[in-house]
Amino acid sequence: MSLMREKVALVTGAGAGIGRATALRFAQEGARVVVSDVDSEAGHETVRIIRETGADANFARADVSNAADVQAMIDHVIGSYGRLDCACNNAGIEGAVLPLTDQSEENFDRIIAVNLRGVFLCLKAEISAMLKTGGGSIVNLSSVAGLIGFPGLSPYVASKHGVNGLTKNAALEYAKQGIRVNSICPGGIDTRMLDSLAAQATGGKASTSEMMAPLHPLGRIGTADEVANLIVWLCSPQAAFVTGAHVPVDGGYVAQ
Ligand code: NAD
Repeated sequence: MSLMREKVALVTGAGAGIGRATALRFAQEGARVVVSDVDSEAGHETVRIIRETGADANFARADVSNAADVQAMIDHVIGSYGRLDCACNNAGIEGAVLPLTDQSEENFDRIIAVNLRGVFLCLKAEISAMLKTGGGSIVNLSSVAGLIGFPGLSPYVASKHGVNGLTKNAALEYAKQGIRVNSICPGGIDTRMLDSLAAQATGGKASTSEMMAPLHPLGRIGTADEVANLIVWLCSPQAAFVTGAHVPVDGGYVAQ
């Protein structure tokens, strides 16, 4: 398939997990990909994996909570490929699992800075670039925690509900200019982040899969590739009438 032929795609937090799988998926569909991450070594590794397939990719280091980094990342995309067609705002952190009264201001501020301010800064810079070339498509990483509450995860839940709000507003404000903005809401996906959440929730007593699989009606956790498939489809012309949506990819979690 070549859903993304001639397209230029940017993925933040693409050094691991869902971001890496998404960068690879864009490349498999023919896109030229800018891989971004705060971790340069991990990001370069994703680029190496993509280039091994014969596809075109390069790396731009950015901490998405930093406005100057985000602008430099977009400048790098435009400098490399002249345009930006698709963006996946994926970078995110989970933070501490604690009741609200035990959550520190520092933990709250850091999660909001990366997960929500990061998406805000990326949307501003990406949409500004897309307006110059007649449109584009953006997918933000929310979570099932952007749709319902999860005891112990107040800052994360607040950040992901915020991502869904930003998604709706950006979709409404730029629909007429040909820019689609959607969010996706994964359930438990087999990555480092889920391992950290499961280890914190059980004190390391149960494996991630043991703890998380039974919570999903399909009886298992998802894979990063299953999430990447949805992201790339939403960015593609096949999803041309989809905007402002928050799409679960959660094995039935929020249907319960
Ligand atoms: P992960 O921890 O495996 O990978 C996250 C990547 O983001 C890492 O490469 C990390 O270096 C990068 N990153 C962290 N902070 C950054 C920053 N400030 N700037 C730029 N890059 C940064 O996580 P994942 O599970 O792949 O999660 C990706 C996204 O999916 C996150 O937004 C997460 O909240 C969301 N999500 C994950 C799950 C899950 O179960 N794994 C479920 C729902 C939503």
